[in-house]
Amino acid sequence: MDFLPIFLNIKGRKCLLVGGGEVAARKAALLNRAGAKLCVVAPSVSDQLRSACDPQSTEYLRAEFHDSHLDGAVLAIAATDNESVNRQVSEAATGKGIPVNAVDQPALCSFIVPAIVDRSPLVVAISSSGSSPVLSRKIKELVETHLPARAGELAAILDSFRNRAKATVTDFDKRLRFWESVFDSAVPELVYSGQDEKAHELLQQMLEQAGKDSSALRGEVYLVGAGPGDPDLLTLKALRLMHKADIVLYDRLVSKEIMARLRPDAEKIHVGKQRQNHPVPQEEINELLIKHARAGKKVLRLKGGDPFIFGRGGEELARLAEAHIPFQIVPGITAASGCASYAGIPLTHRDHAQSVQFVAGHMKDGELDLQWEQLIAPQQTLVFYMALVSLELICEQLIARGKDRDTPVAVVQQGTTNNQRVVEGNLANIAERVAASELQAPTITIIGEVVRLREKLDWFVSKAEAEAGDQARPPDDTA
Ligand code: SAH
Repeated sequence: MDFLPIFLNIKGRKCLLVGGGEVAARKAALLNRAGAKLCVVAPSVSDQLRSACDPQSTEYLRAEFHDSHLDGAVLAIAATDNESVNRQVSEAATGKGIPVNAVDQPALCSFIVPAIVDRSPLVVAISSSGSSPVLSRKIKELVETHLPARAGELAAILDSFRNRAKATVTDFDKRLRFWESVFDSAVPELVYSGQDEKAHELLQQMLEQAGKDSSALRGEVYLVGAGPGDPDLLTLKALRLMHKADIVLYDRLVSKEIMARLRPDAEKIHVGKQRQNHPVPQEEINELLIKHARAGKKVLRLKGGDPFIFGRGGEELARLAEAHIPFQIVPGITAASGCASYAGIPLTHRDHAQSVQFVAGHMKDGELDLQWEQLIAPQQTLVFYMALVSLELICEQLIARGKDRDTPVAVVQQGTTNNQRVVEGNLANIAERVAASELQAPTITIIGEVVRLREKLDWFVSKAEAEAGDQARPPDDTA
């Protein structure tokens, strides 16, 4: 992070604005909105600037900038069209330890002014740290469209209940639950549709109810599939529960980009397993879930891919059910789907594969105990999970039982992430190619005729061909 985002209280405090033109007018309006006591220094002041300023709280000094103008100021903005004046303001302010911004001169700034969505008292500030103001504007547009127009009114109403809530529900955790339940209730929608009075009544009722409730906090567990790595592949429900959870037990397969979407104050426990290295045994994970849920916590069990596909989700839920802990389960995009899509391999195809099998490829005591007769059947796709170490053995076995040596194979490393790599070959040569490519876990192995379609469907492959002079073009390459 290049800048620390903060919201500064400048109510009634002196803020110095140097400049008398259009740019200064925009900054003056912003400072006024935040309640500043504005001191404008400029040899001449435009009408635009004058009309942007609140006359009650603005003082004009018709002068060239002088260091002494900074006396008593908590903030300075240099908004002249003269670079050397802006530099003078910046250096003088920096010398006095006063935060300073010089418009459009990042090198002279100790702070930058973000793009804002103002639904006061709710304010969303957006910054690209100066790297792309247009990007900030685009994000601002996005927030503007998604944030209800009356979100500010909702904030104000909730604020008016804060002290009452503190007095009525004294336990911190219970109060947090109360506020969360407000967001699950009709209150926000009532306010958004202008029915503030009804919202007040409902809030009052809910608060009285919460004050009377002496029962222990009820915890619950959310067993959530996080998908194969790309955070954009999280489901909406997964994201919603990720924001709710007090405590998170997560696997090694959950990407750090996904972890970054969790509630920042949630406690995070890594219970990830690595091959032949089980830091937290399954039984212990089950007990941790139960322990935290019994303590009234909302516990998120976050798993890579889908919890019910090679995820032991069934075992965890069985223990929770036994212990009478309420739970919710949220499916995720499993690695086979995610990796195949991002590698341009359709898992089924009318002409090539009418079915697909997901197979666990991990070995027990150096052996693979699989239904080989089923696996060699034609017109199907095989997807092997956990099969990096056993790849050679799988290929040998399939060939030994009659599968064609030329059957195409793709191994996808860290699919859907920025580290995705795909190595292609056939049953006879893939193990050697994968070893030479030094692929890193996790990888998934896709076997079957559908792998050949990749040439046509993978965006990157098409692009490479296009660059090599071939006519193929990626479908959305308009740039
Ligand atoms: N529940 C998970 C699978 C857990 S088993 C799911 O539904 O996807 C762990 C195996 O999943 C890994 O050994 C690997 O074979 C596969 N896997 C998970 N994420 C992957 C990814 N991003 N790229 C490639 N393989 C992945």
